Amino acid sequence: MIPVTKPYLPSRERLDEYIDGIYERRWLTNNGPLMHQLTQRLQQYLGVDNLLLVSNGTLALQIAYKALGVRDENRALRPEAITTPFTFVATSSSLQWEGVRPVFADIDKYSWCLAPENIEAEITDNTRAIVPVHVFGNACDVESIDKIAQKHDLKVVYDASHAFGVNYNGESLLRWGDAATLSFHATKLFHTIEGGAIIFKRRDDFERATKLINFGLVGSEIIGGPGINAKMNEFQAAMGLSVLDEIEQNMTLRRKAVDYYTDALGDLVGLQKYRSGVYSNTSYFPMLLPDENVVLELCNKLKNIEIYARRYFFPSLDTVFSEANNQCNVSREVASRILCLPLYSDLTVDEQKLIVDTVRSVMNEESTYKESL
Ligand SMILES: *Cc1c(COP(=O)(O)O)cnc(C)c1O
Repeated sequence: MIPVTKPYLPSRERLDEYIDGIYERRWLTNNGPLMHQLTQRLQQYLGVDNLLLVSNGTLALQIAYKALGVRDENRALRPEAITTPFTFVATSSSLQWEGVRPVFADIDKYSWCLAPENIEAEITDNTRAIVPVHVFGNACDVESIDKIAQKHDLKVVYDASHAFGVNYNGESLLRWGDAATLSFHATKLFHTIEGGAIIFKRRDDFERATKLINFGLVGSEIIGGPGINAKMNEFQAAMGLSVLDEIEQNMTLRRKAVDYYTDALGDLVGLQKYRSGVYSNTSYFPMLLPDENVVLELCNKLKNIEIYARRYFFPSLDTVFSEANNQCNVSREVASRILCLPLYSDLTVDEQKLIVDTVRSVMNEESTYKESL
């Protein structure tokens, strides 16, 4: 069986070393030394400051909104955030969960990221934030989004769950926005089993969020205000440190698969267009097929030989969140035609070849079909 992804497991010896330390210290959570070590290592590896580790990527988004005041408790009217419908459901549901109405603006048909030219038309008196997604690790048009946000005094929170290690103009892409959030879920390129992080532009926002994730406590006997529990524990950090120790090997193997797919299929299927200077961080291999029927046909053919490609991201979220009734046609079109091929470090060359041959066979039937019309 070939799944769309397999979580990366680091060597047991390496993980055991970190876990031995946890056993010696008996310090399992609450601001532990491995959590600090991982914070430092990630800030260095990613080239960012003000990185706050949290227990998952969905809470990372919710805490970012809270820390930046996207939701104002005193406001009678419900705050809104402009976001993309072409993403994992957590981008929008996290807004709703925080009482913020997601308002969808359509994506760019080449980058598959929120198109800046569609944002301004959706801004109302209630708009507080823009929540774009660096989808599949591609960079949004960060300059244009920044300009719009400044002009209208809006916060920008990038859901950067896919953008681990992505650089743009020689700097971490995660430095853009008032905050950028990461998911370290087991299926992500870098993971801590469950986990996530927020990278804040400003230190005071980072400090506010640090209190929020620990029940709002500001000292052991001082309660600063309402908070939540979103701390990362020491076992999560141990996994993260072990995965980070091996990330280069992991990415080298994944890159080989991405290059192989690109060479073998690039002339047959549609590929995401990266912003200039941005390259795949090997998180996903999404491809655009001629239409939804071809997607379903290929999925079935692959399933018959126990290969599971996934329709990331389908459906387009503007068809799901009925409250946000903007119809985003580009997103619907891309969502209906997209398929992500299996990608993980120990996917063998033979398996990759089998996948490519199956895609090719379906696409060849497709072209015969087209010619016969
Ligand atoms: C994975 C993911 C999330 C959610 O992260 P969790 O760590 O699973 O909570 C949010 N947004 C996007 C775009 C994701 O891919």
